[in-house]
Amino acid sequence: MKKAVLITGASRGIGRACALSFAKAGYRVGVNFHTNSSAAANVVRTILEQGGDAMLLQADVTDYAAVSSMVSVFGRVDILVNNAGIACDGLLQDVTPALWAHTFAVNVNGAYHCVHSVLPQMLSRHDGCILNVSSMWGRVGAACEVPYSAAKAALIGFTKALAKEVGPSGIRVNCVAPGVIDTAMNALHSKEDMAALAADTPLMRLGTPEDVAHALVFLASEQASFITGQVLGIDGGFVM
Ligand code: NAD
Repeated sequence: MKKAVLITGASRGIGRACALSFAKAGYRVGVNFHTNSSAAANVVRTILEQGGDAMLLQADVTDYAAVSSMVSVFGRVDILVNNAGIACDGLLQDVTPALWAHTFAVNVNGAYHCVHSVLPQMLSRHDGCILNVSSMWGRVGAACEVPYSAAKAALIGFTKALAKEVGPSGIRVNCVAPGVIDTAMNALHSKEDMAALAADTPLMRLGTPEDVAHALVFLASEQASFITGQVLGIDGGFVM
């Protein structure tokens, strides 16, 4: 039987690359999206055209009931990829309580909602793999991105604590911390800023969504069966 992966925020960027890479590796893929149904349907169509197996799943990860019913509809989840996330740029003094709360609702509560919804089946099978998409800013912090850095740091703590809690139950929990990846999330930055970030990266380039997707497929694989509670930097050496 094919293993099944559920990927949140899979209509574009890292989530899309992840959906295509897991499909290529032989997984049944749950392609979650929030609002962009046509882009997500395109991901599903691409996978089906390539002979893979995928299902379109709408849910706002901030909504626990919606996440829970999405998991019921999809069924078996062997691998969960908590990829959905939003940035929050600006000086902390300009961040409203609503903006702060929304940043945590998507990046942190969303991951908790998904994990809480899939854990019962993973616990009963004594098998499963949870992958959280943090950020290098969650490891070292970024000025003008305090809520985002704090939320991504929370995901790292969540990963480590949960890995200890569910390791004895056969479930692995890991985290990736991408550097600057060339996706729509960085569209606010000017070309010059992006070039400067690439120049600050020891490998002298921006990351691609596929760079992150390949690492996630590895962490989900049998080859990574003794790896849990880790934060894998995929950042061209930006953070060491
Ligand atoms: P992106 O904006 O293209 O993707 C984010 C995805 O999350 C989108 O598909 C979006 O629709 C989805 N999403 C947002 N709110 C949602 C909600 N409430 N419910 C369900 N889905 C929701 O950006 P990306 O770069 O592909 O980001 C993917 C992940 O990688 C994010 O968690 C991001 O924080 C992280 N990341 C990105 C970078 C980077 O430089 N691009 C670096 C480090 C970490």
